[in-house]
Amino acid sequence: MTRRFDGTRILIATHNAGKLEEMQQLFAPHGVQVVGAAELNLAEPEETENTFIGNARIKARAAVSATGLPALADDSGIEVEALGNRPGVYTADWAETPRGRDFLMAMTRTHTELEEAGAAHPRRARFRATLVLAWPDGHEEVFEGKVNGTLVWPIRGETGHGYDPMFMPDGYDITFAEMDPDEKNRVSHRADAFAKLIAGCFG
Ligand code: IMP
Repeated sequence: MTRRFDGTRILIATHNAGKLEEMQQLFAPHGVQVVGAAELNLAEPEETENTFIGNARIKARAAVSATGLPALADDSGIEVEALGNRPGVYTADWAETPRGRDFLMAMTRTHTELEEAGAAHPRRARFRATLVLAWPDGHEEVFEGKVNGTLVWPIRGETGHGYDPMFMPDGYDITFAEMDPDEKNRVSHRADAFAKLIAGCFG
């Protein structure tokens, strides 16, 4: 049985303001207020696992331990089929530089590796998102979302973040970075996982 969340405030184990705002919008219709890890001055744990669930669990558990409150965490990334599903859980790492994250660099590396591998077109990929809702008594609920698509080159579009300009979801001829943000938020991997979370724990 899926455990229902019966509180009115939920701790979101993220320091990312964009993710927090997305969660705020998601929970608003359900009368649930969100509070972010940064507001509570929680430390950011190291993501040392090699799965999305593993890393989401680290973030959720760290927030629960620090506060004694139930906490929700997410982890996400892009899997490229012809690259053996890399970068996957290491998506953000591919963008890491001493000056911060550079996703043009990460997308260029992805394209270069596809060219070097002689990968056929269309170059299939999927975004994945995993949500872990953890309670102080050790109980956890896990929800997984995905969106399938193809990679384009050169990159297209100005909106969005991360790999958005390289990813064209199935059923569209525009990339996530060319799409209206509201529309992206209806079809994205995170939307898919959120819908399952709401149906399971808040419905
Ligand atoms: P994390 O979930 O914060 O660990 O981030 C994983 C990385 O995956 C992000 O830094 C983005 O580069 C990438 N990513 C996750 N979701 C999206 C998306 O919706 N669009 C573009 N990139 C994404």
